[in-house]
Formats: sequence, structure tokens, C-alpha cells
Amino acid sequence: MTTIHPNDPTLQSFIPVRPGSHFPIQNLPYGVFSTGADPLPRVGVAIGDDILDLAAVAGLGLLPCVPPGVFHASSLNQFIALGRDTWQATRQWISELLRKDNPALQSDPCVRDSVLVPMADATLHLPVDIPGYTDFYSSREHATNCGTMFRDPANALLPNWLEMPIAYNGRASSVVVSGTPVQRPNGQLKLPDVPRPVFGPCRKLDFELETAFIVGQPSALGNSIAVDDAERHIFGMVLLNDWSARDIQQWEYMPLGPFNSKTFASSISPWIVTMEALEPFRVQSPTQEPMPLPYLGKAGKDSYDIMLEVNLRPAAATHATTICRTSSRFMYWSMRQQLAHHTVSGCNVRVGDLMGSGTISGRSADSLGCLLELTRNGNNPLTLSTGEQRRFLEDGDTVSMTGWCQADGYRIGFGDVSATVLPAQPSRAS
Ligand code: CA
Repeated sequence: MTTIHPNDPTLQSFIPVRPGSHFPIQNLPYGVFSTGADPLPRVGVAIGDDILDLAAVAGLGLLPCVPPGVFHASSLNQFIALGRDTWQATRQWISELLRKDNPALQSDPCVRDSVLVPMADATLHLPVDIPGYTDFYSSREHATNCGTMFRDPANALLPNWLEMPIAYNGRASSVVVSGTPVQRPNGQLKLPDVPRPVFGPCRKLDFELETAFIVGQPSALGNSIAVDDAERHIFGMVLLNDWSARDIQQWEYMPLGPFNSKTFASSISPWIVTMEALEPFRVQSPTQEPMPLPYLGKAGKDSYDIMLEVNLRPAAATHATTICRTSSRFMYWSMRQQLAHHTVSGCNVRVGDLMGSGTISGRSADSLGCLLELTRNGNNPLTLSTGEQRRFLEDGDTVSMTGWCQADGYRIGFGDVSATVLPAQPSRAS
């Protein structure tokens, strides 16, 4: 069989792929799944409405590029740790196995049935063990809007913002996969005109629309990753909803940044889209002025044109309202700059580390990536298609984010990251 690059737009799979599907043969995102018939989690690749079971394919001896057992695992970490050459070789093998002109998997119905699982019959799990989670703050529009609302509109960006990718260390233990309900947090709330805080359920629960990358190659403690070498360390991307309790945040964030307002949950999409699949969608990053310090390199073709949407559905509603449409292409700081900055102190990164982009907002009123901005901190409520209004999230609301890169005739998509808000835990302290 002739070798064809997995990104070739003319490639077609023997698996039917609906127009508009996020998972054509040019995508091949990795995830971890199980089924009722086989409850052991294992690694798979999304193709159309199906999952190609890589543990089963490897069991047939059809994936000689990886050591045995790597895909019989409850996370992708072992596979990711094999490095970029293996990622590329595996993607090439999978692409060839799924091609329309390759009989290997499609000609024998028993083989076909043993390696393909309808996605509707599968449970999707967290795709990686996440040793650490860092969240950046790299959208200039978002940082400007927040600075305008809470500080000084004339000096919305703090002086350090244009000099480095600002971030905080998040909490890896509470990263959950799409579909996991998210409980409204309790915490300290400081009401205006009252000297001391009260304790109780967050009243300003928000989402944050973000992408995130998964670290694919570790760095040693004491060593930094050079900005020009950083891409080798990035395996792929997911969608991230960085749930935020705005009232808890406002009271706690000075002097050391967010804590309880962010640590209760962060949701990610189940499929990791590889950097290789995203390669055709690179676009020029925004001009950086002032020129960053040399260790951060220069802005190049480092952004990705990922179309993003946020949908909100109240508990009783039959359909969702799209409340935000934007793109990740205008992000000021690139992923390679984020990784170079993260490690410049000698801080090490590990395989599976999750690095959030920060809330992604555009310039128009309908392109803002959180309710804080969309409703001006609750002052201008949104009206949903059901007629209901929202200042912040209510119990029973389902927030669903989706994202895709649009090619000519197909999409390289992320699927979605979706979760329903549960009421706060009753607390004896309240
Ligand atoms: Ca965030």
C-alpha cells in the first residue's frame, strides 16, 4: 500500500463518517474507554461514531510500533511517554488500518467487530493521569476585560502581563472528564457593606472556556525547556472548562491568587487531539509588543484556528442556547512560550501535565468566554432562548463547550466538554 500522510485531505476511511463529524480519518484523537461487555478501561481512537479499540488492534499484532500492553491501560501516559517518533509512527499505522483501500480490519466481520465499538455504547474516562495542572491567563481580551471591571480601565493590563505568560498552579486532583456532574462549591463570601465574610454556597458560579495542552515529554528538575524545543514536549490538546466561583475568588484572590474558587472542579473533553492533527490549522500569532525577553522567543505561526462555542441549557429546557462563539487564534501567548516560561526557573514538567490556556475571549460581545464578562459581573443578565435569564449558573444548568478546526469539507474536532451543575453540599458549618 502506498504511504499517504495521515493529514492528507483526500484520505477516506472504510468507517462511515457523517458530514460535520468531529472525527474523520484525518483526526484520530486518543481517549480511554470501557464498555458494559468489557469494563476494563483501554485506549482507543475516535473514528466517525465509533471507537477503534487499540488494545484489541495491538492484540492482533497490527500495531508493531508500540510495545505490547501499552494500550491495555487506564491512561495514555505510558503511550505518550514513548515520545514523538512513536506518536507519529502510531498515527501513520492507525491511519493506514482505517483506510478505505486497506482490507486488514474491514474484510473479516469477526475482526471488524472485535476492534470497533460504537461510541454510544462506551463510557469515556479521563484520558490521562494528570500529575500537575497549571492554568495560564493568555487571552489579552479576557485579561483586559477583567482588569477593566475590577481595577482601572485606563490600565487594565498589569505591567507584567505583556512581559510573560501569567499563570497559577491549579489542582490536578479535581480534574474530571466531560459528563461528570460538578457540585456548586461552598466557601467564604464577602458581601458588600458587611465587615466579615459569611459561609455558604457560591452565588456566582461561572464557567471558563479554555483549551489545554497535555505535556508529552518530561523535563528534569533544574532544566528549562527552550522555546524552540518546546513543541517536542507537547502531545495534544483538549477543551477545558475551568469552573470558577467568582464571589469566593473575589474575596480570596489577594494576595496569593485563586484557591477554593478554582480547585473544586475542572472539566476536560475525553479525546486528546494530537498536535500532528492540528498542524494544518496553525496561523500567525498576534504581534507581541514589547518584544518578549529572548527566552520567550518571537511570536510566529504558533496559534491554532480552533472555532469554539459555549452552550447553556437550563434543567427544564429541551435545548441549549449558544452564548459564546469565538476562536483560539488570537491568543497572545503561545503554548511553546507558556512551556518555556513554566520551566525557565528549573521547574520540571511531567508526562500528562495539563496546561490551560486561560479564558478565551474575542473582541465582540458574543465572543466572551465566561459569564463574568458576558453579563458584566452579573449586571447585564443574558436572556436564553427559553426566555430565562442568567447572571451566573444555576443548579441544574448544563454547560457544554465544543471546538473544531474547519478544513475544506471536513472538521478536526474535539467533541465536547459538558457538565451539569449540582446543588452545593449541605454543610453543618452554614
Ligand atoms: Ca482559568
